[in-house]
Amino acid sequence: MPDPTQSPPILLGIDVGGTKIAGVAIEDLPHGPRILAQAQRPAQREADALIEDIVAVVHALTTQLAEHPELAGPQAIGIGTPGAVDEASGDVRDIANLAIPYVPLAQTIREQCGLPTIVENDVNAAALGAARLIDGTQTGTIAFLNLGTGLAAGVLRDGAIDRGSSNTVGEIGHIPVEPHRWKCACGQRGCLETAASGGAAKRLWPYADPPMPAILAASANPDDPRHKQAEDVKAIIIGAIADAIDILAVTVDPAQIILGGGMAKTGSPLLEAISQELHERALESPFITSLQLPGRLRLAPANMPVGAIGAALCAERIPVPHNQST
Ligand SMILES: [Zn+2]
Repeated sequence: MPDPTQSPPILLGIDVGGTKIAGVAIEDLPHGPRILAQAQRPAQREADALIEDIVAVVHALTTQLAEHPELAGPQAIGIGTPGAVDEASGDVRDIANLAIPYVPLAQTIREQCGLPTIVENDVNAAALGAARLIDGTQTGTIAFLNLGTGLAAGVLRDGAIDRGSSNTVGEIGHIPVEPHRWKCACGQRGCLETAASGGAAKRLWPYADPPMPAILAASANPDDPRHKQAEDVKAIIIGAIADAIDILAVTVDPAQIILGGGMAKTGSPLLEAISQELHERALESPFITSLQLPGRLRLAPANMPVGAIGAALCAERIPVPHNQST
């Protein structure tokens, strides 16, 4: 029986997505997080259903943990969610994908599950998870670029989330510099998100889902009937992603830029296309050459529940007694 004062606490992490609610139980060991249990449910719309789904995932995780009597019980829950998160209260506003204008998420889950609960923005949580999985030390500045339905970044400084003065750090998807001047959901025109995101790729390439592997394949194949169109769409998307990386480099100056989110599951063909674009820009600019951008790029682990692991790591911020009885 391990001494519970010597073991790392067991933490539950929940990743609220537009299509699924994913959960993990982890121990955060010195060399990285160890997954002890996993569970997920399809996401449902509206606040009551979200609470019900999270409680069910927590229950499934604790049931799996109970099958291992050598393990202590979970000590805390971390939740990563889209929407505007008040980190102090754990209240969340405007989870658009799930039609939730407001939910007091931390308080409700704390009451229903009986565990300390913390809520974090989903991109910030994924940034913590990806950085911990890629580089356990987490020193210096690391940016996580989320190529999801939208475009946003999470910024870590020595392992701590940089929030700025109003939680706007990393909202680079809404920098309006994209030359096509497409209208963005935020009301502006020309936001980077209108070109550099999974949502944009679906709009620009409605022929395949996911679109990005098909775009890269068709642009590389001169015999493809949509070859020219694929070349144009690739140039738009990769160009806007390269702009986002350039902006991150000169504003945040991260040692590592981790590419995550659904589009990043395209894997090395996407990384190669972005690196190629950055190399070409460097050929014309000694300044861009000096930034050495391709060398900073990493891919988030595609086969790991990065968001849920990061959410669990957020729960480490909750002070809990080490010798909690089980
Ligand atoms: Zn916008």
